[in-house]
Amino acid sequence: MRTRLLGRTGRQVTALGFGAMRLPTVEINGEPHLDQDLGVELLRDGFTRGITYVDTAWGYGHRESQLVVGKALAGWRDRVTVSTKLPTWLVKATADCRRFLEQQLTELAVDRIDIYHLHGLSVKQWEEVVQPLGLLAELTRARDEGLIGHLAFSSHDTPGNIIRLIDLGFAESLLCQYNLLDQRNAPAIAHAHARGLGVVVMGPVGGGRLGVPSPALAALIPGGIRSTPEIALRFVLANPAVDVALSGMSTPAQVAENCAVAERPEALSAAELAQVEAAIAETKRLADLYCTGCDYCLPCPQGVKISQAFQVFNLHRVYGLDAPARKIYGELKPECRADACVACGTCEPKCPQRIGIRRQLAEVAEFFATDG
Ligand code: SF4
Ligand code: SF4
Repeated sequence: MRTRLLGRTGRQVTALGFGAMRLPTVEINGEPHLDQDLGVELLRDGFTRGITYVDTAWGYGHRESQLVVGKALAGWRDRVTVSTKLPTWLVKATADCRRFLEQQLTELAVDRIDIYHLHGLSVKQWEEVVQPLGLLAELTRARDEGLIGHLAFSSHDTPGNIIRLIDLGFAESLLCQYNLLDQRNAPAIAHAHARGLGVVVMGPVGGGRLGVPSPALAALIPGGIRSTPEIALRFVLANPAVDVALSGMSTPAQVAENCAVAERPEALSAAELAQVEAAIAETKRLADLYCTGCDYCLPCPQGVKISQAFQVFNLHRVYGLDAPARKIYGELKPECRADACVACGTCEPKCPQRIGIRRQLAEVAEFFATDG
C-alpha cells in the first residue's frame, strides 16, 4: 500500500487510514454498543492488508472505540501509528487534560499516543479554553514525558480560522474535512502542507454521502471506476498535500475496496484528475446558478433555512444522491424545511441570484414529501 511522510512528524504512514468512528454496532439490553469482536476483526483485517494509521477519539463508538482499537492493536502496536483526541469541550480545568490523556492511554492499552489532537478546535475554543487553562503547556509536558508523540488538532472551523490555528505553530499535523463535494478546506490543507504539517483528511466520502452509487459521479471517469466511494477516495488521494485519507469503515467489503484503491500506484492520472475537476467545476457552477449559499435571503420570518434546503436538494438534483439527501433533509428541524415556507416573499428581493425562492422551495418540499 502506498505510504506517505506525515509532515514533520517524520512518521511514514499509509495513505489510507482506518477511521474507527463507524465500527459495527450491536444492541445490548436496548442500548447501542460496539460489536467488539467484529470491530477488532475489521481493524485487524485493515492492518493485515497494510493500513498503518488508525484514528479514534474519546467519544467515538458510544465511548467504546478506543477500547476496541486498543484490543485490535495487540500484536500490531509497533507497525501502527495511533491517533486519538482530547475532548476539548469537556475540559473544564487544567487537570482534566492529564486525566483524559491517562484514561485514553489505558483504554488504548498503549504507553504513548503517537498523534494527539485537540478535538474540533476552533479559534474561539483556543481563546476561551486552551489558552486560559494552559493546555498547551500541559500537552507539551506530556509529550516531553513521552506520553504523546506529536501534537495535532482537528477542526471544523472556517478555512481562514484553520489557517490561523496552523500559524500558531504548535501542531505537527492537521485533521480536517475535504472531499469531492466539499473542497472548502483546500487552501487550509495547502497551507498546512507548505508549513510542514502532516495532513489527514476525514470524510473523504462525504460522511457517507458519497458512499452510495451516484451515476453522475461514476460517469466522471467513464469505464474507469467501480463505485462512487472509489472516485471519492481517489480524488482525495490525488491531492499531493494530503498525506492520509481516513475512511470510517464498517464492513469487510469496504476495507477490501478502500485498500485496493490505496494500493494503486497513482490515485488519478493527470488526465483523469483534470477530467474530474472540470466535471466537478461544471456541476458546482450549475449548483451555484441555483444558489450560492450566500444567505443574503435570511432571516426568514418562519425560520426556513433556504440555502440548506437547496443544498440538500442538490444532492438529489445534481448528483443523484437521493438516499443521502432524504436522510439529511429528515434531520433538519421541521421549521427549517422547505415545507415551512408560507410564501410571504420577504426573501426574494434580497437574493442576488434572483432565484424564485418560493417556487424552488415548493419543488424541494414536493420532492421530499414523496417516499422515494
Ligand atoms: S417566502 Fe418562504 S422562505 Fe421566503 S421569507 Fe417567506 S416564508 Fe421564508
Ligand atoms: S440569497 Fe439567493 S443565492 Fe443567496 S442563499 Fe439565499 S437563495 Fe441562495
